[in-house]
Amino acid sequence: MPDHATASSAPAPTLSSKLFAAAREVIPGGVNSPVRAFRNVGGEPFFARRAKGCRVWDVDGRDYIDYIGTWGPAILGHAPTALTNALHEAAKDGVSFGIPNPYEVEMARLIVDWVPSVEKVRMVNSGTEATMSAIRLARGCTGRDKVVKFEGCYHGHVDGLLVAAGSGALTHGRPDSAGVPASYSQETIVLPFNDVAALEELFASLGGQIAAVILEPHPANAGLILPLPGYLQRLRELTRDHGSLLIFDEVMTGFRVARGGVQELTGVIPDLTAMGKVIGGGLPVGAFGGRADLMDQLAPDGPVYQAGTLSGNPLAMVAGLTQLRELERQHGFEVLEAKGAHFEAGVRKLLDELSLGYTFHRCGSLFCLFFTEQPVHNLQDAQSADTEHFRQFFHRALDRGVYFAPSPYETGFISMAHDQSDLDRTLEVMAEALPR
Ligand SMILES: *Cc1c(COP(=O)(O)O)cnc(C)c1O
Repeated sequence: MPDHATASSAPAPTLSSKLFAAAREVIPGGVNSPVRAFRNVGGEPFFARRAKGCRVWDVDGRDYIDYIGTWGPAILGHAPTALTNALHEAAKDGVSFGIPNPYEVEMARLIVDWVPSVEKVRMVNSGTEATMSAIRLARGCTGRDKVVKFEGCYHGHVDGLLVAAGSGALTHGRPDSAGVPASYSQETIVLPFNDVAALEELFASLGGQIAAVILEPHPANAGLILPLPGYLQRLRELTRDHGSLLIFDEVMTGFRVARGGVQELTGVIPDLTAMGKVIGGGLPVGAFGGRADLMDQLAPDGPVYQAGTLSGNPLAMVAGLTQLRELERQHGFEVLEAKGAHFEAGVRKLLDELSLGYTFHRCGSLFCLFFTEQPVHNLQDAQSADTEHFRQFFHRALDRGVYFAPSPYETGFISMAHDQSDLDRTLEVMAEALPR
């Protein structure tokens, strides 16, 4: 075919593709967070113009049923009226003070009331800050340096947590990003998730040096992985017996799988908890909290330094408080469980009809369809997924107006704004998009 024929039949560039080209000139990779760039699925991201309820509209006027919900925060759906009204009102009184404000006290009280492990809490501006500060506090309180994390758990882009497993279970980690000094990763030990023997072996040999174990109690950044029965309980025993602190990173699961997160569901109570996402209602918020005797080691009362110009920002507190109270008022956790159960039943029926043996995990409104027939208990299992099938599925769903996360290792989020017809429409799209 002559060149000009190809050129004249090519569709006009979309506004999204023009914006992406412009973005790449001035923003690394064209995005402000890597997963948005669609590198795991190929193609180019669309640019959002507007989002409301369970839908997102792109700059070219197409709309999508959204299962990302701004990566977790939008549990009521996008731009709920109660929240946008509260923000408008609060903004009239000032958008930042840098002076204590009453909303901070309300927010802290709510977190202490809802999250079992938290007696005192400090607000920060992202999940990354929350985990980074919790680790510093754990080291300050124990006088120990080593931190244990798990393969497949993500805790933000903290230097000492961007570490991959070394060659043996007990060796020290290696940097998982350029720019992380090997000496930092030396202080981080990486274990496979759900492996009790590896934990016991580690504590038997190095228990006295471990400041803290940090984990997502339901890992939700390598798909959605659930702890095997007794695993979290054993981890709690081992950390307690060796004087190490247990840190739950509930940035994803907190205020999402239950009011008080996984710790409420399982009754396993950590020493410290990192929070974020849902508590900010879509504004940049994180928090970390825990036992009062530990939290009292923070500046200005204690020797562990931690600070933030915008921490406790009034608009962020209002957004979070409004979202959480609205969720409670609407019996959100029961409603989300019912929506999740409806969706799960539909997915399982569909997989049966298509004779696909894929593994599907769900906890409340979080879900993940792994494109593998093997059970998924850790990162390695998750990585057995067929990435090419996922890639095709993602694009076919997107073309039909359903936006799942552009990576096989992300969790899906159902919000209060996804009604039964949205979920059923999604199942129809999945029926067309799944490989057969
Ligand atoms: C998103 C996430 C973080 C990082 O939060 P940011 O606000 O992106 O810094 C940390 N831990 C978990 C479990 C997360 O899901």
